Amino acid sequence: MTLKANKIIPLADTRYASSVPVVPAQPVAATGLLSDTLGRPLRDLRISVTDRCNFRCSYCMPKEIFDKDYAYLPHNSLLTFEEITRLARIFVTHGVEKIRLTGGEPLLRKNIEALIEMLAKLNTPQGRPLDITLTTNGSLLAKKAQALKDAGLQRVTVSLDGLDDAIFRGMNNVDFPVADVLEGIDVARQVGLAPIKVNMVVKRGTNDSEILPMARHFRHSGAVLRFIEYMDVGASNGWRMDEVMPSTQVIERLHAEFPLTAVDPNYPGETAGRWRYVDGAGEIGVISSVTQAFCRDCNRARLSTEGKLFLCLFANQGHDFRALLRGDYTDEQIGAAVGPVWQSRSDRYSELRAALPADTSPADGTLKRVEMSYIGG
Ligand code: SAM
Ligand code: SF4
Ligand code: SF4
Repeated sequence: MTLKANKIIPLADTRYASSVPVVPAQPVAATGLLSDTLGRPLRDLRISVTDRCNFRCSYCMPKEIFDKDYAYLPHNSLLTFEEITRLARIFVTHGVEKIRLTGGEPLLRKNIEALIEMLAKLNTPQGRPLDITLTTNGSLLAKKAQALKDAGLQRVTVSLDGLDDAIFRGMNNVDFPVADVLEGIDVARQVGLAPIKVNMVVKRGTNDSEILPMARHFRHSGAVLRFIEYMDVGASNGWRMDEVMPSTQVIERLHAEFPLTAVDPNYPGETAGRWRYVDGAGEIGVISSVTQAFCRDCNRARLSTEGKLFLCLFANQGHDFRALLRGDYTDEQIGAAVGPVWQSRSDRYSELRAALPADTSPADGTLKRVEMSYIGG
């Protein structure tokens, strides 16, 4: 059976448009050398394991929209662990070397350690283990860190927007105490989930007063603190440019107290700009997705909780791989469908942002931009 190209298929969950990838009549074997229209390879797969979260960060899942009536995905829509692992294995044949589990809050997905155990068994075609990591809000980390480590997770990224308890409780919007996240980071370190990265989204006027306290706290800790520019992702956070604190200003503020020197990237496509404290207290990063777009090297694809592949964080249309997983296809056939999808990719939203109208959704809302809680960071 061959499916028609780019046909929009209405699914049970119709919140985002999607098309079912075409399975070529003559499958072409994966070479690991896929390249999109801008010459970018496919290396990094981010997998959202749930669209639910126990926090309501205003920049991601504002309470007014993600309220008790919000329609989360029904359980049978979610990819099973077997489906996720099967797809991951197929993507690895196309060059994926790194997998990041995300959400929503990934530690809310029941028995997530079983999925990690399955993914940890995958190897690249060259026989190397995959780089497997997870991004979490840290609320359940103290409880889960040992099981995650035992399952084969190598390291973890924890989101933390401030140390001041009142500011932190205000930002997570569910009155969650900062002490519990700090405990989670400590336990993760003790069990060897290292190096730990700590992500702080900076919203001017809300938590920029926490830049220096966060730097002071994580200096000498071995954790790499990364300051993220507040992004216009999704369609519900009411983003305004004047609430974005450009990374250059974050660096200026830090440099005035703790002199910094720039460090070369670890690898092409690294999202964070790296800086090191001159006094040897460690490293920090800045993720300047708004003011210094890094689309040119973007080698990331994102798989939603229900198996739609998105080629950009700002995409409004996905590629429904669940339809293929639940259809009568072999791994080779599904693998052959991945190639044309990546090869036709031309996304570079952040580079084009300045030239776009503020709201790029059409009036009827059918091509609503995807939410971060749905495809993950
Ligand atoms: N719940 C987990 C967490 O918070 O770490 C994982 C999912 S969350 C969507 C992944 C990352 O996206 C977090 O580091 C979060 O701070 C970041 N994020 C969410 N909305 C954002 C926005 N509007 N701008 C910048 N970063 C954002
Ligand atoms: Fe939840 Fe993470 Fe989004 Fe905050 S950023 S609402 S913790 S998914
Ligand atoms: Fe990649 Fe899209 Fe972000 Fe550009 S805007 S870096 S293409 S995810």
